[in-house]
Amino acid sequence: MKLGTKSAPSKRPHGDAWFARAQKVTPGGVNSPVRAFGGVGGTPIVIRSASGAIVVDVDGREYLDFVGSWGPLILGHAHPKVLAAVEAACRRGTSYGAPCTPEIELAEEVVAAYPGIEQVRFVSSGTEAVMSAVRLARGATGRDLVVKFSGCYHGHVDYLLVAAGSGLATLGAPTSKGVPAVLAALTRVLPLDDTAAAERLFAEEGTKIAAVIIEPVPANNGLLLQRPEFLQTLRTLCDKHGALLIFDEVISGFRIGPGGAAAHYKIKPDLAIFGKVIGGGMPVGAFAGKRALMRNLAPEGGVYQAGTLSGNPVAMTAGLTTLRTLQKDDGWRRLEALGAYLEQTVGAVLAESPAQLKARLCRFGSMFWIAWHTETAPRSAEALEPHAAEVYGVVFHSLLEQGVALAPSAFEIGFLSLAHTKRDVERLAEALRSALFAVSTSTP
Ligand SMILES: *Cc1c(COP(=O)(O)O)cnc(C)c1O
Repeated sequence: MKLGTKSAPSKRPHGDAWFARAQKVTPGGVNSPVRAFGGVGGTPIVIRSASGAIVVDVDGREYLDFVGSWGPLILGHAHPKVLAAVEAACRRGTSYGAPCTPEIELAEEVVAAYPGIEQVRFVSSGTEAVMSAVRLARGATGRDLVVKFSGCYHGHVDYLLVAAGSGLATLGAPTSKGVPAVLAALTRVLPLDDTAAAERLFAEEGTKIAAVIIEPVPANNGLLLQRPEFLQTLRTLCDKHGALLIFDEVISGFRIGPGGAAAHYKIKPDLAIFGKVIGGGMPVGAFAGKRALMRNLAPEGGVYQAGTLSGNPVAMTAGLTTLRTLQKDDGWRRLEALGAYLEQTVGAVLAESPAQLKARLCRFGSMFWIAWHTETAPRSAEALEPHAAEVYGVVFHSLLEQGVALAPSAFEIGFLSLAHTKRDVERLAEALRSALFAVSTSTP
């Protein structure tokens, strides 16, 4: 399959024209880098509207969407209940800069749902929640070091934009320009799934570590499902050395279930971070913990944190309606059932694929990811197959031509929503079968 063939007329003339305009006035034409199709080549589709499981581009082409705005849209696009509640909230005013009832109700839902937390504070993005939670951890412990894991993403917080060394605990080296080395030097990076490396780091620097932050269900670099024992080791090490354990549940929180990974693995973090689903498609983040810890935040304590639009009634209403609809519609159980069906149908297509394309479907609830060139599920960034991106670029574009949208990166996961049906899952499997055929006939 030839991509980007110049002679063929564009099938998305309006989209291409809009994107050319975007590139003039916005860096790379996008407001978040992975949207630019850098990982798969070609020109991004420009969206006009979305409803349920379908997005429509400005040329009127429809796509069955498994991106779900990168995780938030667990009910599907433009869910009628969320729309009605948001519309009603807007009519009462979009922001007051004063306490309001939806933020209190959403806080009550979060505290009731998630194990071991008593208080929550809302912010406007996952990044902001991570940044605030780490400041709180440092303020409460009086320590500076933060431990993260290679392959885990925690938003674009300066000192967390650091990559791993080669398997041993290393001083953080920034992955992004503009991150001062002195900030990155306060971060330690460990490989996932490596108990010995974590124990070594704590033996050396345990008294200086404020917090260990981890995606308990790492979902930003493939889906790297962890052994429960590994997460338990982190809990034990933190307790022993007086460090705080932070679960970044921005993706997993309220997606795998109301209690997130904490309930699934029966491990309580000191702080939990939420985003994506909790905002129901609006800009929301949150961090939560026990009252004794949270009271360190201003105005009660000396750790400063604030936000003009934090807890605004429109975003809070979107989140609240999303969580209540999930509960009422038996959402998490239905998503697990649909996820299991996807694992079976898509898994069968992958199993039948030509030997050089052998791949493995990884899944947790309604989150799924295809690990290329392997038949075992990787558990760390170091175990990822670096050539996956080459195959994926061809598969991705073939699917897009067939009207199925996966994320434009080999290392981003797919999401099911309550708007997806078994038939949608079958469509994905069928489209994937022809995409794999396209790859096998295009590669020498
Ligand atoms: C998306 C994400 C973030 C950042 O959230 P934003 O709202 O994009 O700032 C942080 N942590 C995890 C695990 C995420 O997936």
